[in-house]
Amino acid sequence: MSNPYKNAVKQLRNVAKYIDIDEETFKKLAVPKKVIKADLKVKMDDGKYKVFKAFRSQHNNAVGPHKGGIRFHPDVTEDEVKALSIWMTWKCSVVGIPYGGGKGGVICNPKEMSEGELERLSRAYIRAIVDDIGVWKDVPAPDVNTNAKIMAWMVDEYEKIVGHPEPGVITGKPIELGGSLGRTEATGLGAFYVLEQLVKVKKLKKSSLKIAVQGYGNAGYWFSYFAKKVDYKIVAISDSRGGIYKVSGLDPDKVMEHKKKSGSVVGFEGSKEISNEELLELNVDILAPAALENVITKDNVKKIKAKYIIEIANGPITPKADEVLFEKGVISMPDVLSNAGGVTVSYFEWLQNNANDYWKKDEVFKKLKVIMDKAFGEVWKVYKKRKVNMRMAAYILAVNRVIKAMQLKGGK
Ligand code: NAD
Repeated sequence: MSNPYKNAVKQLRNVAKYIDIDEETFKKLAVPKKVIKADLKVKMDDGKYKVFKAFRSQHNNAVGPHKGGIRFHPDVTEDEVKALSIWMTWKCSVVGIPYGGGKGGVICNPKEMSEGELERLSRAYIRAIVDDIGVWKDVPAPDVNTNAKIMAWMVDEYEKIVGHPEPGVITGKPIELGGSLGRTEATGLGAFYVLEQLVKVKKLKKSSLKIAVQGYGNAGYWFSYFAKKVDYKIVAISDSRGGIYKVSGLDPDKVMEHKKKSGSVVGFEGSKEISNEELLELNVDILAPAALENVITKDNVKKIKAKYIIEIANGPITPKADEVLFEKGVISMPDVLSNAGGVTVSYFEWLQNNANDYWKKDEVFKKLKVIMDKAFGEVWKVYKKRKVNMRMAAYILAVNRVIKAMQLKGGK
């Protein structure tokens, strides 16, 4: 498998072709500012101690504190964490929120751990990085296999050590501990706002657009929900067990009800069963991959019929497939823009915590729209001017902003 860190640096090299960047600045951006490594000694339920390798990568903080999730997974590597922290810098920069990238990871298999073991691991992780995180230093959040409950343990451990409440040190917390209303909907809603802007600039007629959504978890469901509400037609939906298709359109809520009852979208009344591969190759206008990375590859890219793609998942298109899509004239809204609604509402959570002032859900939604629409407009402008794909346009914008901030601070 390719090394994600090498990929992130290669990607930066490609962006460098379009911007004014000297070698010294390039090197600074290619290497995270700090990578914390720790061996977490955790007491297991059988009374024995087990050691888990943990990482926290802090990429760049030219515009604000580091921000990024913590993943618990057996396949976590230092290089993966470093790459993800770099991509977080660009994502925050694309939407113009004042954070730099960060990311954390622990090599563990949470599926084989009890709740008590997970809690002790989460608390040990915070003790290992306590001096390096804080409202103005680095603000962790959930990622793969971590959730609001884990964030609650983590914030509690942090506050016990520093001796005072500091909810803004971690986002993605339960509402009762200062989590933001609207965080659940945020990623899908942000992607929906991107869709709306795309339809506007391309002057498309929304009621005639057919959409296929791969993945029906948090992001895929909320995207479908908001799209259906304003008359887009969701004709196909899938999850890990397979997909469903209905030419006259699916009702996202009814499909979710069915999934909750049966465990999958498959078998939804009045729909035709299709495979995940078939879903990607359907004759639709808009494809929204919202499940996994690397689903559109050199092997299936030629069969993609959609004219537009909204990348809700992280990294759903491989670089080779990206080139083919560009040649075919398919416009793909990159993940750093399309799924940035999540980190944006995490930023809102941090703002609310620090001000000790809490917003209503519709206020969160309105503020998210302002940020997403502005980001879309800015990326679109670069896309039109530079004649590159939307991903490169987003990167050009993001990297330039970070370089500018570094220069203004007197560093290169
Ligand atoms: P989730 O776990 O809630 O849902 C994932 C969905 O994908 C599930 O319906 C699952 O059945 C489906 N799936 C799994 N394997 C599949 C396969 N092989 N084929 C088709 N479907 C499959 O996850 P989520 O939070 O909705 O995240 C989805 C994607 O969006 C991920 O790439 C994630 O990194 C990205 N993302 C999510 C957020 C967020 O706030 N939730 C933010 C940014 C990016």
